[in-house]
Amino acid sequence: MGPEPVWDAAVVGGGIYGASIAVYLRKRRGVKRVLLVEREPAPMQRASLRNQARIHAGYHYPRSLTTSARSLQNVARFLETHPSALRRDIVSIYAIAAAQSKTNTRQFVRSCREIGAPLKEARPEFAALFEPGQVESVFEVEESVMDLGALSRSVSAALAEAGVELQLQSEVRALTRVSPHGIALDIEGSAGARRVEARHVFNCTYSALGRLAGPATAAGLRHELAELAIVSAPAALSGVALTVMDGPYFSIVPHDEGLHTLSHVRYTPHLSWREDAAISPAARLAAYRGDSRFERMIRAAARFVPVLAQTRQVGSIFEVKTVLQANEVDDGRPILLERSAELPGLYSILGGKIDNVVDVLDRLDAEALS
Ligand SMILES: Cc1cc2nc3c(=O)[nH]c(=O)nc-3n(C[C@H](O)[C@H](O)[C@H](O)COP(=O)(O)OP(=O)(O)OC[C@H]3O[C@@H](n4cnc5c(N)ncnc54)[C@H](O)[C@@H]3O)c2cc1C
Repeated sequence: MGPEPVWDAAVVGGGIYGASIAVYLRKRRGVKRVLLVEREPAPMQRASLRNQARIHAGYHYPRSLTTSARSLQNVARFLETHPSALRRDIVSIYAIAAAQSKTNTRQFVRSCREIGAPLKEARPEFAALFEPGQVESVFEVEESVMDLGALSRSVSAALAEAGVELQLQSEVRALTRVSPHGIALDIEGSAGARRVEARHVFNCTYSALGRLAGPATAAGLRHELAELAIVSAPAALSGVALTVMDGPYFSIVPHDEGLHTLSHVRYTPHLSWREDAAISPAARLAAYRGDSRFERMIRAAARFVPVLAQTRQVGSIFEVKTVLQANEVDDGRPILLERSAELPGLYSILGGKIDNVVDVLDRLDAEALS
């Protein structure tokens, strides 16, 4: 048997970023042979499935106007590609905390106006959910929530339709330059070890990004081991997503099967650390045995919305969240698309939220990829 033919492109990581890039390369760029290598048994099993499912429409980042404005534009384009991922039955409420909020009502209203994000005073039945005196204002906003199962199915169908070759249950352990136009990928999989060669490699491994990217990219990453509590909320919150801004507060967002996810700025991150070659985020997550912080989250949340005291925990999702350190200050979530200086042909990509994948594909339009 001769050597395997060189792949035109290999994508490492089958979350929303890797899968969308693989489809983009086949469909928009006419790249012939595209291989997608994913560690899990199927695409879309890690952060792209295990998140809070909010399609950020610009309301969440009043201190980062660029992120806000771009969020709003991206939403429509993202939903054109994955229409089945939109849940149409959700009411979205944002409240501004009366004490300690980094944004006040005036600033919030102004930032929404500047980016054209629709906003109206909440209907009385929603405003009445809040403890008087704890919030300054309560708004109804147009922010959608995803059906993550439907998104995952839509992405898998797009991969099949585009003719992307999948290698699942396989981990890329190392990347090496083997010729002026080729990068070797050393892959450990259920079927054993394999070395393949590709002209371009897209590192879309999210929390594992720093392990395959160069040191400059790795140095900019920060990880959080995050807990989202899965809860059965009282009937008054059925189909309601509720967020208290802008500081150490909480949000509760509809999830599958009539349940919600609950997160709290103070309690959701159990650990956080800067990228460190000695710490594998996946291994740290697998080894983590911390207790759920649901009780603390719900006690804090019920001070704002008393009916939440009746919430029951069903479980928790623990997942690593990875962000660019540069964003810690303004809470922005721009994308990283970095061409490797050490390995020409290698791109490392990180997006802090799902619909920003639209930005990455726009940015890739400018890359020659020949
Ligand atoms: C707790 C939490 C809440 C969030 N809430 C929201 C929200 O409400 N709205 C929003 O838009 N975003 C949210 N996000 C962010 C969003 O989930 C991520 O921005 C997005 O999923 C990143 O997509 P990705 O494809 O880069 O990562 P992933 O979906 O994690 O995909 C990376 C893939 O790479 C694979 N992989 C890793 N290393 C290797 C390797 N060496 N070889 C082969 N495969 C490998 C992994 O198995 C994984 O499938 C949240 C994230 C978290 C963790």
